Order: sequence, then structure tokens, then C-alpha cells
Amino acid sequence: MRWILAPLVLLLPLQAQTIGIDSHIDTIQRVLMDNEDLGQRAAHGHADLPRLREGGTNAPFFSLWVPTYYKGSEAVRRTLDLRDAMQRVLDAHPDQIELALNASDVERITRAKKIAAILSVEGGHQIDDDLAVLRMYYRLGVRSMTLTHFRNNDWADSSTDKPLHNGLTDFGKQVVREMNRLGMIVDISHVSDKTFYDTLAVTTKPVIASHSSCRALSEVPRNMTDDMIRALAKNGGVIAINFGEGFLNQKDAELLMKAVKSVYIEPTLTGKALDDYSAKQFKEEMVRPATSFATLDDAVAHIDHAVKIAGIDHVGIGSDFDGISAPPKGLEDISKMPALAAALRKKGYSETDIRKIFGLNTLRVLREVAGK
Ligand SMILES: [Zn+2]
Repeated sequence: MRWILAPLVLLLPLQAQTIGIDSHIDTIQRVLMDNEDLGQRAAHGHADLPRLREGGTNAPFFSLWVPTYYKGSEAVRRTLDLRDAMQRVLDAHPDQIELALNASDVERITRAKKIAAILSVEGGHQIDDDLAVLRMYYRLGVRSMTLTHFRNNDWADSSTDKPLHNGLTDFGKQVVREMNRLGMIVDISHVSDKTFYDTLAVTTKPVIASHSSCRALSEVPRNMTDDMIRALAKNGGVIAINFGEGFLNQKDAELLMKAVKSVYIEPTLTGKALDDYSAKQFKEEMVRPATSFATLDDAVAHIDHAVKIAGIDHVGIGSDFDGISAPPKGLEDISKMPALAAALRKKGYSETDIRKIFGLNTLRVLREVAGK
């Protein structure tokens, strides 16, 4: 029997390869706005190639996020600008990072000790109500899209806007079906509760909440209720915990709610003037608030709560790094992920549990939706 055991032993190192997925980082904003070189470790921001490696997050979803005040074709243009900025990173460091289009790409690229870049679009407004645009994003490598961002779009209600469509419109349902057909993960972070349930009724594939936490612990509409978490688990999906202070800590949540309710002014600009406005806004938001109450222990509490409700196979990480201004104490940037693993270990989580939360659960969804 010895000859059978030998090849099995040879396979072991492959299976032991740890895959660290974070289903939402906004790092490409820094590349687009400031032409930053992600090959260098920066003293600011939350992620770059050295810090991703250090933290073991070797398969992040790079979000191509466009604010909702980019309207119509302006939102499409801005998405292409972000995709181009992503390409600059891929072209500058082919020895360190590569585009991943499916689960086996993620396995192959991480096995080669490189970062596997998975692309997501943050906001259904970015398709400008056109399924052809959605299909072209897929061809550009995008494998996930949040149905809304901060405001409603023409076909789906957002959790931080007044209901307009009572969830998903007929066209919104078509978007979900087309994403299922193409092999793009439907991401329900940011959508209203009704949009969430409408999406579950339509989708034939598992969905993710790429960066949402638990409303039972921190009451903001961007977080998920226990019922929603249960329904998501039943769908086979994953809730990936957001490290934004207001998502984790009730005291910060109250401050966040004030900001959500404040008057929201949309500029009537286009082209470079709109991009300049956006850069200014982004910089202002990234320093507000500068400090928070949230700590690493809050992140552990949210993960633990989600695991109790959804089960160990349906919880992941979606830090929102480079899109949040005051990360939790102890989780200041993506290089600190081993501290989170250590805290979970201390709480009794096994290595297998931690590997699932830190990547394998979301990898399973990617495999089911985008193919092997
Ligand atoms: Zn977001």
C-alpha cells in the first residue's frame, strides 16, 4: 500500500496552501487618485502588496467603486478609469500579482506565492441600466457586483435611501438573472432589506454580503439582521464582516447614522471637474472620524455572532480597508489579520474554522458562481 500513500503525501502541501480572501478593499481608489505604487509599503492607507502578503490576504476583491453622484455614462467612464488603474498594478508587478477569473485561478496564483486579484464593481448604477455594459464588465474580469451603493438606482433600493421601488424592479431581477448566467457573484451589501429578500427569491446561485456586519450588535441599516443572515446561509452564501467602526461598535454606529441622515448634496458636474470633486470628497471622508471606539474584540464578536446564526460555512471577511477612516484598535490595516486569527483561536476556533472564515467559504461561492 506504500506506493499509494506516496502520491497522497505529495498532494498535501497543495491542500495546505492557505487562501486568505477579503471580499472588499477600496485600495484601487488610491491608485487612481494618487497614482500610488502598491508594490511599496505605504505609511498611510490600509493595504498594499507587502501588507497583503504580511497579513496572509492573498486573494482580495479589489472594488471598482464609483460614488452614486456619477450618473449614467459618467459612472461607466469612471469604472473604466478604475479598471485601468487596476491594470497598471497588474502590469507593474506581474511577479507579485495576477488577475483571477475563477476559483482555480485563485488556487494556482496563490500557490505561486502571488496575490490573486478578484475584481468587483460597487454599485449597480455603474452599468447605466444596460445589460451589455454588465456583460462587458464580465469580459474585463469583473466577477462580483453590489446591486446598489449608498443611494437607490433605477432598479434597486439601497439601505441608506428612502424606498422607491419596493426592492428590485423587473429590470433589477433581470440583472440578477444575467449575473447568474454570466458567472458574476451577486453582492447584497448596501441593498435595502426588501431588495435583499427580492434578490434571494430570484437568484439561482449563492450570493454574498461582501462587507456587512451584524445589526444585532451594531444597529445600522448597512448591517444584516439575524433573519437576513439565516436566509443568506440557506441560500449557500457568505456574510463577510466589515471592519468599519460604525459597522462594529454601537457607539460608532450612532455617529454613522447622523452622517447618513445629514443632507446629501449631489454635484451637477461631469468629466474632470467631477473627478476633482470626487477626489476631494474621498479625502475628506477618509479622515472622518479620525478615531473610533471599535476594537479587534468587536470584530471577533461580530464573526462569532454570525457563525452562531449562519454556521461556520457562511461567514467571511470583508474589511472595507481603504474605504474606512478609523479602523478598529488592533486591526489598523490588513497586515494585522494574524492578530484576528489569534483572537479567534483564543476563543476556541480551530485552524479549519479560521481557514473557512478567512477565505475558503468565499472561495466556495466563487467556485459555484464563476466556475472552476
Ligand atoms: Zn461599500
